[in-house]
Amino acid sequence: MNDLHDLSVAELAALLRRRETSAVEVARHFLGRVHAQPNLGAFLATDETVTLAQAAAADARLAAGDSAPLLGVPVAHKDVFVTREFPSTAGSKMLQGYRSPFDATVVQRLGVQTGAGMVSLGKLNCDEFAMGSSNENSAYGPVQNPWDHQRVPGGSSGGSAAAVAARLTPAATGTDTGGSIRQPAAFCGVTGIKPTYGRASRYGMVAFASSLDQAGPLARSAEDCALLLSAMCGPDPDRDSTSLDDPTPDFSAALKATPERLDGLRIGMPTEFFGPGLSGDVRAAVQAALQTFEDLGARVVEITLPRTELAIPVYYIIAPAEASSNLSRFDGVRYGHRSANPKDLADLYRSSRSEGFGAEVQRRIMIGTYVLSHGYYDAYYLQAQKIRRLIADDFQRAFTQCDLIAGPVAPTVAWKLGEKSDDPVANYLADIFTLPASLAGLPGMSLPCGFGEAGMPVGLQLIGNYLEESRLLQAAHRFQQATDWHQRKPA
Ligand code: GLN
Repeated sequence: MNDLHDLSVAELAALLRRRETSAVEVARHFLGRVHAQPNLGAFLATDETVTLAQAAAADARLAAGDSAPLLGVPVAHKDVFVTREFPSTAGSKMLQGYRSPFDATVVQRLGVQTGAGMVSLGKLNCDEFAMGSSNENSAYGPVQNPWDHQRVPGGSSGGSAAAVAARLTPAATGTDTGGSIRQPAAFCGVTGIKPTYGRASRYGMVAFASSLDQAGPLARSAEDCALLLSAMCGPDPDRDSTSLDDPTPDFSAALKATPERLDGLRIGMPTEFFGPGLSGDVRAAVQAALQTFEDLGARVVEITLPRTELAIPVYYIIAPAEASSNLSRFDGVRYGHRSANPKDLADLYRSSRSEGFGAEVQRRIMIGTYVLSHGYYDAYYLQAQKIRRLIADDFQRAFTQCDLIAGPVAPTVAWKLGEKSDDPVANYLADIFTLPASLAGLPGMSLPCGFGEAGMPVGLQLIGNYLEESRLLQAAHRFQQATDWHQRKPA
């Protein structure tokens, strides 16, 4: 079959269960596509032997009558997740060639040995230590947006979004600290969801900002995301003390139970998300999507998230603060790249870290160290923590007036490669609509809702209250049954 790559996760799984194809055949098909597209830059590591062995193990489970819903379907992992069978670099030279002795919990839960039975195609490019919005901070080169090879795919899960959009894999994992699942999903015209903070275990995710980092899936539809999310999430009390001890709902079952119409659903439209900073093309696509929701029975209500603008300075204090602490382990002694021929111990540390970390990571370590230092801690870090709480409170106030919040994912469509690469602040400002939900720990998703400037995809962001992923997925699913934006594919 030549069009396997056009099938959804759910369709591939059904085909495999009916034994009309095999996991090995499916894996070979996708590996063929990955190898035919080296210029995209989406993959950092593949290993045919490993992938085909996993596929054979999936076929054995299928032959034994195992009907697990994801069994035999390919997946690829953002390089922030550590894996035993592939190298794990987190997009950094610091971890070049690193082999983890264990799999991240999310990888294990999705995997073929002890999990849902997905077959790993390899590891996906990302911004170094997940710091970035364009994937241009990767030490291993940028990723091209499949819709326009001169444009960025978004970041930091740029490889994940580009690989799904280019049909190199039916689904991928990503991580979202301040928007890194939602924004690349929007830029590449795919669907992605970041669950409530704590839903998915962070064990084995290379830490960036621990109070914000969350794993989630990217795929083409809400239906496919629901399948992966159910398998990825769940308590992990022995290995991640912040993992929630709530049982994971069956998100696919919730999706199947989506009511025919969305009557009674109140969708909040935050005034601050539709200000002058939002480009006209994105505004038009998002407003049309809100109209579709109204046609489906939902009621759009205006709400206010008054501290939206403050999310940028707050996030860019808290995230670097946590990063500076998390990244101190990469000293060339305990972990990471070690400089050759250092003069003395101080030089060993200095040179190893200067050589191993890229410019953006170094910038954030310096900002983070500064805001945590004696004399500045109260003025910056503590103040940011207080405003973080107020941002979370604003959401709770909004959720007394609505059930879901909808708005743009980013102020513009994907920009040109190189356009903002010398201007870190321009990158930070583009995160304005994704940072608030991250700071509050709320679930958020991005789904394709049209096209803007230069024919680039536009994403609609949906934000739900804590643990209300099912509601998000249901609304997205109903929208995707009424529209075909998620089925469009790049030339
Ligand atoms: N763009 C944001 C940053 O650079 C978010 C990254 C992320 O979510 N990992 O930090």
